[in-house]
Amino acid sequence: KHSPIKTVNPFTNEIVKEFDVMKPAQIASIIDKADEAFKSWKNTPFSERAKIIHKVATIMRERKEALGALATLEMGKLLAESIYEVELSADIFDYYAEHAEKFLADHPLDVKHGDAFLSYEPIGVLLSVQPWNFPYYQITRSAASNLMAGNTMVLKHASNIPQCAQIMEDIFKDAGLPNGVYTNLFVPGKDVEAIVSNPKIKAVTLTGSKPAGASITAAAGANVKKATLELGGSDPFVVLEDADVSEAVEVSVAGRMWNAGQVCVSPKRVIVPAKMYDEFLAKTKEAFSKLVVGNPMDATTNVAPLCTEKAAEDVVSQIQKAAEQGATIALGGKRVKRTGAFVEPTLITDITPKMDAYFEEIFGPVFMLYQYKDVDEAIEIANATEFGLGGTVFGKDTKKAVEVARRIDTGMVYINHVTGIAPELPFGGTKESGFGREQSIAGIFEFVNAKLIRTT
Ligand code: NDP
Repeated sequence: KHSPIKTVNPFTNEIVKEFDVMKPAQIASIIDKADEAFKSWKNTPFSERAKIIHKVATIMRERKEALGALATLEMGKLLAESIYEVELSADIFDYYAEHAEKFLADHPLDVKHGDAFLSYEPIGVLLSVQPWNFPYYQITRSAASNLMAGNTMVLKHASNIPQCAQIMEDIFKDAGLPNGVYTNLFVPGKDVEAIVSNPKIKAVTLTGSKPAGASITAAAGANVKKATLELGGSDPFVVLEDADVSEAVEVSVAGRMWNAGQVCVSPKRVIVPAKMYDEFLAKTKEAFSKLVVGNPMDATTNVAPLCTEKAAEDVVSQIQKAAEQGATIALGGKRVKRTGAFVEPTLITDITPKMDAYFEEIFGPVFMLYQYKDVDEAIEIANATEFGLGGTVFGKDTKKAVEVARRIDTGMVYINHVTGIAPELPFGGTKESGFGREQSIAGIFEFVNAKLIRTT
């Protein structure tokens, strides 16, 4: 019988490597070590922590080609995207190494007499559960801030990317991180709930699907532990009447095909003015005709396979359901006739609130095009899902675009750009996209105790 934790190359569907699932006693011992390591790590000066975390960034940059190739092998994304992800992760490690001490400096409070200040103190061992769509970046955005804050971490990565999980643990070790400060757990998702109740785990953070998030926060609540969640989204991309159509098409199509559409902040619903619709549709079809589906290792490919066969099957059944419910599949819609977890780049139109596709997230290369008669209707469509992660407003008049952005119920809105990622910008959502923020100054305050110290 095969292990649930294994590398299966989604380009060939071949099993490459399998890993043993850790036994409960082994997991308990790892958490004991993380708790032990916390006692000295929390007292390690920022400057020493920073030296190690900067070193992590340096090693990642030095090994970016090999790391990139490994991510592509395990989950199929384009090699250039994998390498970009490694560079972005290195930037995030550097960012927190440089700024954490300043962010967490004592914060004086304005009081009537005496002195009062907030002292930001780490809380202990964190359990971080992460998905496969950005194998390195997901670890980074959880680990960089929290390790610099003085917490220690056990990380449960998605079961289909064990080699990326392993190699990051190795990089931390090579950078000189003390034993126990960061450790990888090889366990399947269904066994995570039991880990949350370990008294040495002080808080949990998860990026992934709603069921996984609901399960882990229920366990956290039952044990009175803090949790943060990032559960994906169905980002709107609202095009305003003054927008350059060609530019809006180019940005939205490229954004949607990024990582074969498996990005929580991908522009999943493109919402255009009715009078622009025919031109936008024609130009989108033209842009689709230039897409090259193929080997993710080839520089000429721009649509990669999905992460697994099952993911590809699930996306195709969502498309089929949309068609059965009356939507128009204007392009694509099927599996690509070749080996590998491929789905055709798909363009869906005529989606109405009677269809599941109107509300659901589709995690694949599926571009959903909507039209609106006035801005109120555009906002109604944009806010129609339970998700509230990112979004885009596209138009020449920035002031107008910002006004529209204020009315979109998400955690992030970008003007004239797909929702992006940068170390200094917060990332996170509202509604069923979860709660809490990662990255930027905001990200470092999630798992620290803002302790009041008062002198009279
Ligand atoms: P999952 O939520 O199943 O996986 C994400 C992580 O959670 C993995 O490490 C997984 O482990 C773990 N996990 C799974 N079940 C549980 C559980 N009950 N308790 C604790 N941890 C759990 O996502 P999938 O990969 O199955 O993708 C399904 C959908 O989730 C996607 O179609 C997309 O909508 C959404 N998603 C959103 C992401 C985002 O960026 N926000 C990223 C990935 C998915 P294991 O691999 O062992 O199951």
